[in-house]
Amino acid sequence: MPPIIYRKGLDLKDAVAGQLAENYHSALVNSIKEAGYRYESGRLQLHLAKEFGFCYGVDRAVDYAYQARTRFPDRTVYLTGEIIHNPHVNDKLRALGIRFLSDPHESLDSLTPDDVVILPAFGVTIELLQRLSAKGCTLVDTTCGSVLNVWKNVRRYAQEGVTSVIHGKHWHEETQATASQATQYPDGRYLVVYDREEAAYVCDYIRHGGSREEFLERFRHAVSPGFDPDQHLARIGLANQTTMLMSESLEIGAMFRDAMRDRYGEAELAWRYRAFDTICSATQDRQDAVIQLLAAQPLDLMVVIGGYNSSNTCNLARICAERVPTYHIAQPECIESPDAIRHKPAGQPDEIRTTGWLPAGPVTIGLTSGASTPDNIVERVVRILDDFANR
Ligand code: SF4
Repeated sequence: MPPIIYRKGLDLKDAVAGQLAENYHSALVNSIKEAGYRYESGRLQLHLAKEFGFCYGVDRAVDYAYQARTRFPDRTVYLTGEIIHNPHVNDKLRALGIRFLSDPHESLDSLTPDDVVILPAFGVTIELLQRLSAKGCTLVDTTCGSVLNVWKNVRRYAQEGVTSVIHGKHWHEETQATASQATQYPDGRYLVVYDREEAAYVCDYIRHGGSREEFLERFRHAVSPGFDPDQHLARIGLANQTTMLMSESLEIGAMFRDAMRDRYGEAELAWRYRAFDTICSATQDRQDAVIQLLAAQPLDLMVVIGGYNSSNTCNLARICAERVPTYHIAQPECIESPDAIRHKPAGQPDEIRTTGWLPAGPVTIGLTSGASTPDNIVERVVRILDDFANR
């Protein structure tokens, strides 16, 4: 029997609204917005970006998870893994009794048709969806519409024999799910490029060829099975993980277009090169807002809040770090004292501890948060900054 799949919620939006407000909303953040996104206290002046925090896709995913828990109080409810990349939200869901299939002691093999499984906002691979369907579980699909839009375009490429070149992180769940959409057709193929450097390498291969073995070794985790760079770069279509840096995605698209034009000529370009904008509007709005904030006035430093594995948060931190000292923190407790802060420097994998981060005298701080960070976490950061600046 095909599984029951809930894709539009479970008719309990009103029933969980109070719980969501209690767990994630913030009266202080609302009042800062009403005051022109400014907060002043003693020597501290704080400026919030005009767009920050929960995006529409995350809002919906968390809402559906609460609805699922409420609708099925007597059944075991699972998430395939983190619903979004925010430790606070995932902890809250665990506290509701929702279990995580990604935990070491859990296994897909033990699922039964009585179980309920929630699929995350960034989607799952086709293979995982098939395994869950075969188990007969009830599924609550929270895949964001912006991700579904990318999948639609990637499937179209695959049907037409166009290789999807995905600007993304091959280890990220969303990119893995998107890549799996390409390979469900006989001529479907993909290549994932992470940054300009990887794109430049592939563009050079398109223009001049090169060592096939070296190419396949370099992209061994980032290509579809049987990928042959000598054949499968003849027609390409660009797509993105939805949370990449907009400016970099546009640049990478232009690099590939130029390479295809150089190799095959202008007349063949439309047939050989395709592109469409797949950065989601929420990601773009948050990037635009932080660029606007940085341009609007001098800041002594930026604080960026969000999980270290949150792609959109890391990209916000990258934008800021090019202009001002930036501290990307995973949670409020990372701000240890007026002297010490734990943070992940932009472009580096690990958290470090920095001392002397808060300047003396009047201090102007910019603040933003990634799409998976709720307002009540932003409030706690505001309160800590206020406390430490005015001690
Ligand atoms: S970041 Fe964009 S694609 Fe991802 S869940 Fe939010 S709105 Fe959807």
